[in-house]
Amino acid sequence: VIKLLLRFKFKVVVRKMLVNGARLLENFNILAGIGSTKNGGITRLALTNEDKEARNQVVKWMQEIDLKVRIDDFGNIFGRKEGRIPNAPPIVIGSHIDSVKNGGRFDGVIGVLAGIEILQTITEKNIGHDYSLEVAVFTNEEGARFQRPMLGSAAMAGAISQEQVYNMQDDSGKFFIDELKRIGYLGNKESRLKEVKLFAEVHIEQGTILEENNKRIGIVQGISGLSWLKASFFGQSDHAASTPMIQRKDALVSAANVINNLTQWAKEKMDNSLITFGKMNVRPNIANVIPNEVSISIDIRDFDNDRLLSSTKYVKEQLYRIAEENNVVVKIEESVFQEPAIFNKNLIDKLEVLCISNQVPYHKMLSGAGHDAMYMNRLGNTIMLFIPSVEGKSHCEEEHSDWDDILLSIDTLYRLIEKELN
Ligand SMILES: [Zn+2]
Repeated sequence: VIKLLLRFKFKVVVRKMLVNGARLLENFNILAGIGSTKNGGITRLALTNEDKEARNQVVKWMQEIDLKVRIDDFGNIFGRKEGRIPNAPPIVIGSHIDSVKNGGRFDGVIGVLAGIEILQTITEKNIGHDYSLEVAVFTNEEGARFQRPMLGSAAMAGAISQEQVYNMQDDSGKFFIDELKRIGYLGNKESRLKEVKLFAEVHIEQGTILEENNKRIGIVQGISGLSWLKASFFGQSDHAASTPMIQRKDALVSAANVINNLTQWAKEKMDNSLITFGKMNVRPNIANVIPNEVSISIDIRDFDNDRLLSSTKYVKEQLYRIAEENNVVVKIEESVFQEPAIFNKNLIDKLEVLCISNQVPYHKMLSGAGHDAMYMNRLGNTIMLFIPSVEGKSHCEEEHSDWDDILLSIDTLYRLIEKELN
């Protein structure tokens, strides 16, 4: 109760909204009804019948406000309102409508609804614009069905080839391309976005930073990059009772030294680099046998690409050094490397000014999780706004954000876009 009261107390920012809150809520409820679960969540995996139904609904809304709809070769959907300068790069607002299994109603959906609502408001107010305006819906952002997150936006930005995407299979062996055709959303390559003047994504925070700081809008400065390694140590299995300490080739002791050493190193650096060892396999995994084979996962995150590269290099050097000290052999696999995305400074400043002048409590922050905006950042100036998540819960049925916070973010984005139209 106290928590609720506190939240209420800090939310008495009353102002006239320029977008239509009632309409937004109505649209939100329609999407929340497609693929809904018993406990108020959503299961709407990419390219399923539920995804198709939600896509059809969004396309219907696009057509109702006379947007020209086109679909690209990855099933990404774009609704366009033509500007006065015919071939200039467009202003694009979007996100995704696919979900994880038993996910929440807010993740992704809010970013798409924001686009529809902002374009509808501009249409109703009859505001002229030099730049064309588009709403975007990206395919398979969650990576829950086809196991590559941000698939549609990454592919469009050239991070994955069309062949790779088409050949992806879900758990039951169905191919991406077949499912895309089946739901009627295979478009053409020409429909992809090549360049944007501005891309904006409104998204729930999926963390507790805004809630803890009593802020209502997160201005996202960037998304961290990541580097994944798998290190396998090969030693020798011997009896625990009869092998002297000095003669051992213990794979687990090597792994433990690595974990301890690198954790200490990351802590002492104090530069916000993160390192996590989340997974370990031990063989033979018997209490009285010296382990001969141990593998660990290494997850390194950083907002600075040079530092991410140099940390990865340092970690590899330490793996070899520690293995040698312990008389074991180490094999390193580099499985994923994703560059960080740093969003547009100028747009961040403009959003900050807007929040100050409208007395909106905001927080400038970085995102640990990936979003479509990460890849859109490669096509032009990009910005993200975060909405507080109640107790940070996301990717679950309890996922929730307060409606007045959602409205405030979309309204703030509208005010930004209004200034960028010409
Ligand atoms: Zn999302």
